[in-house]
Amino acid sequence: MPFIYADNAATTPLDRDAFKAMLPFLSDDYSNPSQPYSFSLGSRKAIDDARETIAGCIGCFPEEIFFTSGGTESDNTAVFGMASPGREIICSSIEHHAVLSACKKAEEFGCKLTVIHPDKSGIVSLASLSNSITADLALVSVMTANNEIGALQPIKQLAEIAHAHSALFHTDAVQALGHIPVNVKESGVDLLSASAHKFNGPKGIGFLYIKNGVKIKPFHFGGLQERGFRAGTENVAAIAGMAKALQNNVNALETNRKHLLCLEKVFLESLRCKDIDFILNTPEHHLPGLLSVSFRNADGEALMHLLDMKGIAVSTGAACDSKSIGLSHVIKALNLPDEYAFGTLRVSFGKNNSADDAASIACAICDILNN
Ligand code: PLP
Repeated sequence: MPFIYADNAATTPLDRDAFKAMLPFLSDDYSNPSQPYSFSLGSRKAIDDARETIAGCIGCFPEEIFFTSGGTESDNTAVFGMASPGREIICSSIEHHAVLSACKKAEEFGCKLTVIHPDKSGIVSLASLSNSITADLALVSVMTANNEIGALQPIKQLAEIAHAHSALFHTDAVQALGHIPVNVKESGVDLLSASAHKFNGPKGIGFLYIKNGVKIKPFHFGGLQERGFRAGTENVAAIAGMAKALQNNVNALETNRKHLLCLEKVFLESLRCKDIDFILNTPEHHLPGLLSVSFRNADGEALMHLLDMKGIAVSTGAACDSKSIGLSHVIKALNLPDEYAFGTLRVSFGKNNSADDAASIACAICDILNN
């Protein structure tokens, strides 16, 4: 049975060049980059080069990149780095739990938390942010692209509102980076989270962009790595792999975008021509390749398992929510009628998928729903 993977919002296959870039640091060059002797020169240079490559990809200075263990750590660091009792944090209700749960924890420590809701197409409006600012605002956090419905948010304008209130703006760009153009100087964000495994890099590595001059509290204490901001021996292989994967994806943004939009078209047209009753939750302005579809009177969970039995990997929503029963917080926020909401599937195509994959998935869904 052929296997079709279309859950690229959960994780992506490792780029071959990234894999090759990692190999030396998983074998002969096992040096600790913090040591002053010449054996460590190679690993230290690999880290410096990676920082420079990544900075070039997002339009910042190398010293503004801080390596972390991934999206969760970057998000947590941004939130807790700015959280202080009595001050306000605003985030959207469709943030990933790495932001939402961190914000809720910060509230337990005395922050004022305001959660703003997107409109029914999943977009956070500028008015909803402006109207919700009540206290001494410290931080606004709104994701660049949502991981369940692919909605792209008006980050530049939201950041301007935060700045007008002398607050910092953080964006979780975990789903966006490597898939759409991301430039921190153009968007004006102060903090940006990224995770390599979402852009064909290795798992367990990511970074936090911190704009020069922005002071946030560190989250890790110990050695002086990352200029004292993030203690712990660097994962050199993963850092090198992340930089290569990002560079390759950024170089192919337009090619990949066109390819993914074609796959979306094939998938949706295949469903439509079989007269399947569904709602497309993904708005017009979205992450290429990510489609959230809600089928009428279907059980999304059962559908996902039946597709699995046919060798197709898609999901009902966020990977980390897949064990929880009921609707995800993102689907709830869309206020869909129940007969659609419970029949939700997320199909997230990647650059390695073909038009045949898109048609086969749609065909398999139709077979299941019609039987
Ligand atoms: N933020 C978003 C939007 C995500 O989709 C994810 C992962 O699914 C994360 C954060 C967490 O990233 P990581 O898996 O690197 O911890």
